[in-house]
Amino acid sequence: MKTSIQIGKVMGIPIKIHISFLLVLVLFPIVFSNDAEFGFADVASASLRYALALTLTILIFTCVLLHELGHSWVAMKYGIGIRSITLIILGGIAAMEEVPRDPRAEMRISIAGPLVSLTIGVLCYLAYLGLGIYDIVQISTISYISRFLWLIAYINIILFVFNLIPAFPMDGGRVLRAWYAGRMPYLRATKKAVNIGKMFAIAMAIFGLFAFEIVNIWLILIAFFIYIGASEEEKYAEVSVTLEGIGVRDLMTREIAYVQDNRTISELLRLMFEKKHLGYPVVDQFTGKIVGIVTFTDIRSVPMSEHGNVLVRDVMKNVSFIPEDADAMDALKIMSTENVGQLLVQEMGSITGIVSRTDLTRSIEVLGYRER
Ligand SMILES: [Zn+2]
Repeated sequence: MKTSIQIGKVMGIPIKIHISFLLVLVLFPIVFSNDAEFGFADVASASLRYALALTLTILIFTCVLLHELGHSWVAMKYGIGIRSITLIILGGIAAMEEVPRDPRAEMRISIAGPLVSLTIGVLCYLAYLGLGIYDIVQISTISYISRFLWLIAYINIILFVFNLIPAFPMDGGRVLRAWYAGRMPYLRATKKAVNIGKMFAIAMAIFGLFAFEIVNIWLILIAFFIYIGASEEEKYAEVSVTLEGIGVRDLMTREIAYVQDNRTISELLRLMFEKKHLGYPVVDQFTGKIVGIVTFTDIRSVPMSEHGNVLVRDVMKNVSFIPEDADAMDALKIMSTENVGQLLVQEMGSITGIVSRTDLTRSIEVLGYRER
């Protein structure tokens, strides 16, 4: 399912909004138009009140976008590509092609976003003070501008502080890991940073449950998001360290059995028993060209009684390719982004093997065990 839509491109990076963001576009203006201190509840005209609140919402997310562009700009300086920036309900995500392993690079990329927020916050606050000197609150347009400046300054300072919480997936977590990684092996640095992040998340959840008269649902939600993020980061670091230096070439199966697209499921099953492979590239019965891939998972949904009638071409999936000299980690990334279990390995235009998710997970287990 497509959950994000692209709204434009900045510095060559596709900017997307996630469907959860639509909730923000409704929820935030409601909050801002009903809050006197932190919004426009005192504005008499309902339509103006709502327009101001919506403008403020859009400005806030422009600031979030600028924060992500800050990260992206520095990452690109280090030669790391940015696939996209997505605005979601809790902020923005810049999808980097890889997590930088060099602590200095990670430190600079991670701190760039909060620095953008801090700069916007300080500049808006100074402008707000500047407007205040003229004391022309009577002119409503100026008073609105000054209120916008104050709110934008306030929110950017919150963004700055919040992002520096030393917990994954916040920027502060990455800064912390980079700091440790300059002093110890990468995986140990990650584990230290992850544990501190988890402790923060637990403390936040407890605080959210008991420290307020009403349970603070936002704090609990963010705590949950941090806890999950920290665990994911640990897993990612483990896998990428384990697979370091391992290529697709080391893991792939060279012997491939092809199956024609006009074969029945019964025939395919017989082939599977005989060859003991899990994935089979499907070739067109006339041209011999590869048209798809079929695995045991694809035929599981076919009822036994239909095995003689359903053809391979009815259940096969689209095939994805990977060059033979690619890293194992790249294979894993392609598998997860394209949601496939097998990749055909290619070299100089011809198919040289097949690599499966099982090949990868098995080697992660074996290598991970060896390293302990
Ligand atoms: Zn950030």
